[in-house]
Amino acid sequence: MKYNFNYSLIFLIILIASCNPKKKSDETISQSETVFPKGEKIISENFTGTIWLQMMGANDSTLHARFGNVTFEPKARTNWHSHPGGQILFITEGQGYYQEKDQPTRSLSKGDVVEIPPNVVHWHGAGPDSEFAHIAISLNTDEGGVVWLQPVTDKEYGGLKK
Ligand code: MN
Repeated sequence: MKYNFNYSLIFLIILIASCNPKKKSDETISQSETVFPKGEKIISENFTGTIWLQMMGANDSTLHARFGNVTFEPKARTNWHSHPGGQILFITEGQGYYQEKDQPTRSLSKGDVVEIPPNVVHWHGAGPDSEFAHIAISLNTDEGGVVWLQPVTDKEYGGLKK
C-alpha cells in the first residue's frame, strides 16, 4: 500500500512538471513599442514641423561621436544640412525620406541604414502619413558640428514620390 502511494506521488510530480507553462520568451514583442525613449518635443528653426529628441551618451572627447533618437511627426523634416564628419542613420519606426542635394529621394522604413559621407548636403524626415524615427550617429565630431542650411520647402518635399 505504501509502495503504491509513493508510485502515484511520483507519477503526479512528473505530470505537473510536464505541464510546461508558456515561457515569457515566446511572447511576441508589440510592434508599437519603441526601443529607445522618444525624448523631448523640440521646435527648432533647423527643422520643419515637430520632432522629439533623446540624446544618448556623453559628449566625450575620445569617440568623437554624438548620437540620439530622433522622432519626426508626419511631414516633419530637417533643414538641408551637412556633417563635417559624416553621419549614420538607423531607421527604427515608420516611413520617411533621405535625400542628397541633386540626387533622387530615397524612401526609408524600419531596418534601413543610411551612411552619409562628410560634407554632403542632405535632409532626412518623415513621410506625409507616418511618424518616423531613427537613431542618428554623428561621427568625427572633432571635425565640427552640423552645418545648417535653408529649410526643405513644401515644393521640394511635395515633389517626392512615396
Ligand atoms: Mn543629417
